[in-house]
Amino acid sequence: MTIVAEGSSAPFPYLSAVQQILEAIVGGASGADIGALPIPDHYRAAHVLRDEQEVWAGVASADKDPRRTLHVGDVPTPELAPDEVVLAVMASSINFNTVWTTIFEPVSTFGPLARLGRESQWAKRHDQPYQVIGSDASGVVLRVGSAVRNWSPGDRVTVHCNHVDDQDPTAHDDSMLAANQRIWGYETNFGGLADLSVVKANQLMPKPAHLTWEEAAVNALCNSTSYRMLVSPNGAQMKQGDVVLIWGATGGIGAYATQYVLNGGGIPVCVVSSEDKAGILRDLGVEAIIDRRAAGYRFWKDEHTHDEGEWRRLGKDIRALVGEDPDIVFEHPGRSTFAASMYVAKRGGTVVSCAATSGFMLEFDNRHFWMRLKRLIGSHFANYREAWEANRLIAKGMIHPVLSQVFPLVEAGEAARQVHHNLHEGKIGVLCLAPEEGLGVDDHELRERVEPKLHLFRRSSASNVSVID
Ligand code: NDP
Repeated sequence: MTIVAEGSSAPFPYLSAVQQILEAIVGGASGADIGALPIPDHYRAAHVLRDEQEVWAGVASADKDPRRTLHVGDVPTPELAPDEVVLAVMASSINFNTVWTTIFEPVSTFGPLARLGRESQWAKRHDQPYQVIGSDASGVVLRVGSAVRNWSPGDRVTVHCNHVDDQDPTAHDDSMLAANQRIWGYETNFGGLADLSVVKANQLMPKPAHLTWEEAAVNALCNSTSYRMLVSPNGAQMKQGDVVLIWGATGGIGAYATQYVLNGGGIPVCVVSSEDKAGILRDLGVEAIIDRRAAGYRFWKDEHTHDEGEWRRLGKDIRALVGEDPDIVFEHPGRSTFAASMYVAKRGGTVVSCAATSGFMLEFDNRHFWMRLKRLIGSHFANYREAWEANRLIAKGMIHPVLSQVFPLVEAGEAARQVHHNLHEGKIGVLCLAPEEGLGVDDHELRERVEPKLHLFRRSSASNVSVID
């Protein structure tokens, strides 16, 4: 098997090192042999540049093209800290934070990286003129730092993105409350859209054995986020029979949220913007679906004026479908939908929010909130335990990856552009070291059992759109 590391400017020594790693992984070499492989001193990675953080000045968000600012090329391999591992990244994924990083919104990530760099000697490595981005990965452990106890070279893993210093006491109740909590590959360097990555050992989880590398790579960030929002004691704690309104129900987090509601005996009311997406939901088993584009809701009359009549219309549409108001609203579009979400939630119901894609300065009518005794929960990613539980459900074949397309690393910019413009469904996977799709499956029996569910979001593979760089 040969690989072509497009985007690498020093192909020969690099390719032979990478070839060795790949042959060892695909050939099933022992952990000891994998641990003895040389690690190249530079690697191919998708990155943004500090020098370009002002490049979008005066450009409207929608016109900022990630293909211009997402570069794929060589970066130096960082020194390994005692609590970290070096990972051979087989596959990664595009998250919406990939878009935020490349368009430098709502802020450039180089400020947070500089602050991180001041925290400790090891943290200093993160403050570079480049940032390797990407907050998901599946791969194989190549090296472990001297303080790593639970993982060894050769382990097949997925990576969750909660980056915390566990020597900080604030990290020891719910690590998402840690004062120094960060999202790996967004607020840290050395992210997953690369051939190698350096991650903390407490970010590792076992790779679900029935999945390919690309299927295993797309889950951790979105699946764990939805788990915390809906299932965890830190979130809305959905119970059987709860009506849950899910915005963007075939998007990254929405597609996992929909599965959690179906699995947990809830009643999903799924909002999407096309008939194709509604079709995916019907195949998943969803009955109550709203096409927001066909419905033509205009929750804002203009930039400054809400239309309460439109909130009511949404509420009526939900009642027409399921006969009652939502116990829980899974909220993330933000400014465009937030007031409507707060309005339609049932008396005593819960709105759980993890984002504000359409704008973060939110307004809502507080009378509907306090008079009807509703709750609003802010939620952000997931702690290690929550991510582990969410990964366990994937590994048992109870929650499924929502992979729709796969791009090679060299086209990560185009993949990010598609997410930026809402041209995708579910998740977009990215092949890093994996030379082709379909590799990495160990448990064929479980795969056969859940196979049809693995393809519900699938489109034909990567585009041939050329990369601007
Ligand atoms: P996706 O783009 O994959 O999906 C979002 C979906 O939301 C879209 O597909 C679209 O679905 C719907 N949507 C977008 N804009 C609007 C709008 N104005 N009104 C109604 N619906 C809208 O993104 P993700 O699901 O991966 O992420 C969603 C948001 O959550 C992002 O802002 C992301 O940064 C954030 N996030 C936060 C996390 C955290 O830990 N705090 C973790 C993961 C994501 P349709 O057009 O079909 O209606």
